[in-house]
Amino acid sequence: EKKALEELIHEEAITLDGKTIEIAANIGMPKDMDSVLRYGAQAIGLYRTEFLYMDQVACPTESEQFDAYKIVAEKMGAKPVVIRTLDIGGDKSVDYLKLPHEMNPFLGYRAIRMCLDREELFKTQLKAILRASHYGKIRIMYPMITHMEQVQQANTILEQAKAELIDQHIPFDKNIEVGIMIETPGAAMMADLLIKEVDFFSIGTNDLTQYTLAVDRGNEKINYLYSTFHPGVLRLIKKVIDASHKEGKWTGMCGEFAGNEKAAVLLLGLGLDELSMSAVSMMKVKDMIRRCTYSSAKEMAHKLLDMAYVNELEHHLDDYIDKHI
Ligand code: PEP
Ligand code: MG
Repeated sequence: EKKALEELIHEEAITLDGKTIEIAANIGMPKDMDSVLRYGAQAIGLYRTEFLYMDQVACPTESEQFDAYKIVAEKMGAKPVVIRTLDIGGDKSVDYLKLPHEMNPFLGYRAIRMCLDREELFKTQLKAILRASHYGKIRIMYPMITHMEQVQQANTILEQAKAELIDQHIPFDKNIEVGIMIETPGAAMMADLLIKEVDFFSIGTNDLTQYTLAVDRGNEKINYLYSTFHPGVLRLIKKVIDASHKEGKWTGMCGEFAGNEKAAVLLLGLGLDELSMSAVSMMKVKDMIRRCTYSSAKEMAHKLLDMAYVNELEHHLDDYIDKHI
């Protein structure tokens, strides 16, 4: 089976009736690029930059960050690399940032909230990303967006970063695309408004599931309640995809759910444009998509959205896969 899957490395994820979906990889470090290249990712859908900041005694400098981003951009060549700006806080801490101790860190000072409060730190990262954009096809993505103003404020700092580079005669991609993660129910519910401010969405199902169901993603005692197959989460996902398509834009997914081959059938049916996952999952998901028929998956996905129980929904999906794939 392994051999058969490896034959798919250079094939597209295309359904029997001709619908394609982009298969992308998540990375945390430039060294993750080995398996990304080996398994033929069509893009990097999520570069988690926080690892550059962790296990350090101080913030990485602009040039240290530039080096890391440039390596990834160059290795991918013409293929897109979505670099997510710093998402620290929540479960990830860094001593030198002196983050406040909080009762509810997942509801607290994290990700874009911290970056908009520490403009110099944020601008340094944006300049490093912009500089690297000259060496490949980079896209910028802001995490944990909940409010319209956050997109505008982040973009204002991005414009300042661009202006500084222009003054310094440093080249960058003037048409760099900017997207946001959709990982809270609030953002999903206003996707039709947020999409007007950005070029694309990527759904972060780890957090979207946690926040929609009010279930701590790391708490074992209640993890039986944690499922992205919950109809409430799936309906939000559908809303986000539809809102982006209405504006002629695209939506990807970069949470764990994107690497679940069973979920892939459903996500295809919901109309998702890109799936980003750990490199080792890509072949299985691609294989699954290539066995699907989009028109039929779409019908099935619609039915699932009307179901009330997670179990019922999963059983129906299992049955569908047994019968049709
Ligand atoms: C997510 O929330 O689904 C996501 C991809 O971001 P992270 O897991 O890094 O919070
Ligand atoms: Mg997240």
